[in-house]
Amino acid sequence: MHFPHLLAPLDLGFTRLRNRIMMGSMHSGLELLDRPFERLAAFYAARARGGAGLIVTGGYAPNETGRIEEGGPTFNHSVEIPNHRRITERVHAEGGKILLQILHTGRYAKDAGIVGVSDIRSRINPRVPRVLANDEIERYIDDYATTAALAREASYDGVEVMGSEGYLINQFLARRTNNRSDAWGGSYHNRMRFPLEIVRRIRTRVGPDFILMYRISCIDLVEDGSTGAEIVELAQALERAGVTLFNTGIGWHEAHIPTIAYMVPRGAWRFAVRNISDHVQVPVVASNRINTPEVAEDIIASGDAQLVSLARAMLADPEFAAKVQAGRPETINTCIGCNQACLDFIFKGKPTSCLVNPDAGREFDLETRTPTARALKVAVVGAGPAGLATAIAAARRGHRVTLFEAGADIGGQLHLARRIPDKTEFNELLRYFRNQLREHGVEVRLNHRVAADQLQSAGFDEVVIATGIQPRVPDIPGVDHPSVIPYVDLITGRRTAGRRVAILGAGGIGYDAAVLLAHGPREAAPDTTTFLAKWGVDTSLQSPGGLLPGGPKFPPPQREITLLQRKPGAMGRSLGLTTGWVLRAELEASGVQFVPGASYQRIDDAGLHYQVNGEDRLLAVDSIVLCTGQDPLDELSAGLADGHAHVQMIGGARQAAELDAYAAIAAGTELAERL
Ligand code: FAD
Ligand code: NAP
Ligand code: SF4
Repeated sequence: MHFPHLLAPLDLGFTRLRNRIMMGSMHSGLELLDRPFERLAAFYAARARGGAGLIVTGGYAPNETGRIEEGGPTFNHSVEIPNHRRITERVHAEGGKILLQILHTGRYAKDAGIVGVSDIRSRINPRVPRVLANDEIERYIDDYATTAALAREASYDGVEVMGSEGYLINQFLARRTNNRSDAWGGSYHNRMRFPLEIVRRIRTRVGPDFILMYRISCIDLVEDGSTGAEIVELAQALERAGVTLFNTGIGWHEAHIPTIAYMVPRGAWRFAVRNISDHVQVPVVASNRINTPEVAEDIIASGDAQLVSLARAMLADPEFAAKVQAGRPETINTCIGCNQACLDFIFKGKPTSCLVNPDAGREFDLETRTPTARALKVAVVGAGPAGLATAIAAARRGHRVTLFEAGADIGGQLHLARRIPDKTEFNELLRYFRNQLREHGVEVRLNHRVAADQLQSAGFDEVVIATGIQPRVPDIPGVDHPSVIPYVDLITGRRTAGRRVAILGAGGIGYDAAVLLAHGPREAAPDTTTFLAKWGVDTSLQSPGGLLPGGPKFPPPQREITLLQRKPGAMGRSLGLTTGWVLRAELEASGVQFVPGASYQRIDDAGLHYQVNGEDRLLAVDSIVLCTGQDPLDELSAGLADGHAHVQMIGGARQAAELDAYAAIAAGTELAERL
């Protein structure tokens, strides 16, 4: 496939972008580490080298109250200019262009001095905001303009004004948060004043030849949010005020609808972007769940937008644009929308990284990475994510690598993950691994359950055991009853569950099994129409916030499902912070029953006998699915103990608890660096 629209340069009059691929703004958390500006410069330079047409930094607050959290980045003093020049110089040296994002968080700030348009608290922040006074608002507008002027002095190519996701500017615009009766509240004309004044004042300060991108919320997805008509009115007024480009945002952070996670179909929100691009003359950038060049090309070719914003997709593969340009799109490492190592890390206070690319965020540390001086003969046993990452990274360093896999294909448990409805993105990771194995010349031996003596006699210098796990069978009387189905058999389709099902174990796999049982197997990616209808999105954009009056409507479940765990208290605690709530909402809406604090007594023809708080209960079910954790599978290390090769163990084979695909891939990548 060709990508003529995606690769076409964009002439903005005073400047030209080399293509339509923009790296959108992300909080990286690198600001909180040592040598933050060197780290950020290396991070952005890698994406500029990788061909991005435009890059937007993470958010910088125009004043102290606008910070995301205590210690969060601000840019409001000239003393910071030399630091920012480190970033702009490195990006420009790679032929890239970069904008500084100006972000005031308003009532979303995780800080004691939180301010707001009103004192209405957000449902995702316990702090009550102090109401901004009239003269403070005027000062804030100047602060935005000052930050823009400083950005220009620091040689940024422009700024992005963050006007979406429910931050301060959105808080002025929506009735949900603006109950003022002064010149900043009441009519929509008054509520629009704050962003319009910001854009006008920035344009006056920076002059005409500086990119001024405004990120507009093209659908708020909250009650009492803006309507489509109001959003168009704002866009047109902003265009007249001096905006060069519009970027688009989808949903406030407090929205109860997933906007970027894996269960959101690719390009699902382009209808809302189209509402902007149909009504303005300046170019518009589409965003959210655009992760492949095919989707990106289609969005631009159809006229829904003129550029695309890839944020997480650029964490996953800094060379996304260069690979498209080189006609090698099949080699792209695709963002799978899991949020596990990007957003979930940020919410845990860790710098961002990426499940499929654990080098993301480590660019500065890895700039000195060199090929090996001595090529070793390396055996990797097991082609799950841990073994695949090890084999590829070791071969990339110049070692001679043989990868043994007992099964007929590479992937390990990724073949189970990809069968869960909505998790089809894991297919992309398998495709990427296959290409990498080929590209780096790894010798792959499938259908080869290797034994210790074979490895001993083959003269390897290094043996990496990545044989994964074995599912745990709990010690419950009757666990061998015909109604009991191990999760592997259920997910592979070897066994089918009846209408009434108990799932024992409520970790990630228990929840995935519940989704599979509730909705049935589905190999295809989720489709946009069904997704939007299910979550109650008003695609006509007539209702406030783009929410249909009746709310979400989930399809009836195919089965009666009960999910049990032994631990008392809330269930699903091990799920991802940014995706777990979606799974819980879906399963609750599908009528799944949740039973914490269960003590399993026995399984027989009547069903599952268990106790809660010492009280006997019987769950009359047709099937009982075991999702009761995993133990390491290590059949090899004892037989290799006295051999010539240096032996290391990795992934599930080393430790099954707390393991996930990120941990497996990161461990493999890091191990290979030490070989
Ligand atoms: P495995 O993936 O188990 O791979 C081990 C490989 O070794 C297998 O291919 C096996 O055949 C091979 N092998 C074993 N013995 C030998 C031998 N003697 N010789 C040759 N080969 C051998 N993680 C996430 O991060 N996010 C998710 O969304 C997610 N969803 C999941 C959904 C499901 C349904 C399942 C089951 C898992 C999911 N996981 C997820 C977990 C993730 O897949 C695992 O943590 C990861 O696969 C572990 O990687 P591994 O390489 O250590 O082991
Ligand atoms: P897990 O998260 O450890 O959950 C295992 C479940 O089984 C727990 O609910 C546990 O809770 C129960 N259990 C453990 N031992 C038991 C026993 N002897 N008898 C009865 N119940 C027992 O593991 P998993 O669900 O198997 O997942 C494996 C790994 O894959 C995890 O690390 C997970 O992070 C990863 N994964 C991630 C995702 C994702 O979306 N991010 C999805 C799937 C899997 P109680 O002890 O309270 O009963
Ligand atoms: Fe995408 Fe997951 Fe990587 Fe985040 S961690 S960038 S969602 S693949």
